[in-house]
Amino acid sequence: MVHIDRSSPWNRVDFSAAGMVAPGADDDEHTQCHDWLLYAASAHRGQAYLYWAQLHAIGEFIDIALVKLDDAVCAGGEQKDLFDPYTVAVGEVGILFAVAPPAARALVAQAVAASERLPKTADLLREGTISQPMFVTAVARTDIVDEPELVTAVDTDLAEALAGAGHISEKKAEKIADRVVTRHDRDAIRRRREKARKRKNVTNRDYSDGLGGVNVTADAEEARLALAAVNALAEGVCPNDPRTLGQRRSAAAIARLRGLPFTCACPDSSTCTATLGDQEISDRQARIIVHAVCQKSTLDGEDDEPGFLDGYGPISAEHARDLAQRPDATVRNLDLDDLTEHTPPIERPALIVHTSQPADPYRPNATLDALVRGLFATCTVAGCERPAWNCELDHVDEFDQICPDSGGPTCLCNIAPKCKAHHLWKTHLGADRPEKGWVDDLWIEDDGSVWSSVTLPYGITVEMAATNQWLFPQLAELRCLHQAQAPPEPPTPSGPTTGTGNCPTGGGLRAATAYKHAWRRAERARLRNERRRAAEAGDPPPF
Ligand SMILES: [Zn+2]
Ligand SMILES: [Zn+2]
Ligand SMILES: [Zn+2]
Repeated sequence: MVHIDRSSPWNRVDFSAAGMVAPGADDDEHTQCHDWLLYAASAHRGQAYLYWAQLHAIGEFIDIALVKLDDAVCAGGEQKDLFDPYTVAVGEVGILFAVAPPAARALVAQAVAASERLPKTADLLREGTISQPMFVTAVARTDIVDEPELVTAVDTDLAEALAGAGHISEKKAEKIADRVVTRHDRDAIRRRREKARKRKNVTNRDYSDGLGGVNVTADAEEARLALAAVNALAEGVCPNDPRTLGQRRSAAAIARLRGLPFTCACPDSSTCTATLGDQEISDRQARIIVHAVCQKSTLDGEDDEPGFLDGYGPISAEHARDLAQRPDATVRNLDLDDLTEHTPPIERPALIVHTSQPADPYRPNATLDALVRGLFATCTVAGCERPAWNCELDHVDEFDQICPDSGGPTCLCNIAPKCKAHHLWKTHLGADRPEKGWVDDLWIEDDGSVWSSVTLPYGITVEMAATNQWLFPQLAELRCLHQAQAPPEPPTPSGPTTGTGNCPTGGGLRAATAYKHAWRRAERARLRNERRRAAEAGDPPPF
């Protein structure tokens, strides 16, 4: 007899071979931070492997049990449903993991998906490339596909896309699954969207402590517009309004829904500078924009490639066309050839040369601005889902306002969306000692794919492919000016007095900043060379 013992031998197993190595007590703090972070990351990957092992074992059990149970349950007589072999096997899984029937069915469905529907995606789970929640999401988002050939194609593409995405969040993995399904089974997406639209509703829910909620389910773009409109209203109060932004949003939304005025709550109306007049509110509302990107051929109805809605993710071709046909929509042509030399014939690969505004080399031109936001979809710091059109555009290698030629270029290879918080962190962490800050990077591979990375001060780097590379196949045909001339590894600057090029450094803060930028530039070059050497040697990425 084997008891499922709740005290397990796991805590006595040596996992050092899997990278779970605790630092020595005598190691310096830097090394301890580095080692503990790697330890945590290895444990995280181990969870993925163990989840795969759990599903694999359940799948094997189900296969064998179904045959065995076929004989055992004949006696069940009339109650066929209850004594169906599958139901009994799922019931036994439920007992083993002490979960209710829906959870047991979900677990068995995951196991069946791992062995039959999505074996290639399941391989990524086994390797720890994707996490348990990512696999669960992939199974859920692809279950709408029925045709066996389509299921196989979806699995192949999904596994390839997830494997090539770099260090992505669960949310990004979910969007990848949606996009792959959208591409392979357009009918399924149409059906799903029609079905989903029937779920549109307004519902009410009670929370604890005397609160309640109103939930409005609508088309994704309408929901975004509605939230932005609430924000526009909530922003109109004067600085003396004592409420938090959340409280103001709540009051503004309720006022709108109930047809009541929304007013500033400052204590002294004689000094109130609120801008809540009809005209002021409607001026702010007029600036509310929802951005979507798709291929022109999709808009023209020539193909059904998916599109992309900022802050949401991939949308069906039909949805993209619906958006373009709204009376309040403005359709702008994003022609990537605007970035290249105009004299025809344009050779391929074409060189990117027009990237900044003619009068201001610091500012990206409209084409680069839209391309970079559409391409990255979100803030480029791993795990951050702040929509790209709500982000600031950061020069990864810092722009030099005094001497533009010495700093990072305003170019596809150097401009990345960052949310305000991440932009501030990148800029100001390590102000006195750059090695205590983050080093971010951006580069374009030979196939045109654009990657970004962040290196933490403990020497741990995470890399991520641009989320919407699939949306811009034309990028494979473009090369930027700086790609061709990869700079050699510059020497590490020796101290805050180092100037760059022929530009004067000035004193104090300016010198410290110049030193920080030069240090980061050297560090980026060093990391790039390390990455290149690792790629040539066929080593896995450092993290
Ligand atoms: Zn006021
Ligand atoms: Zn460039
Ligand atoms: Zn961010």
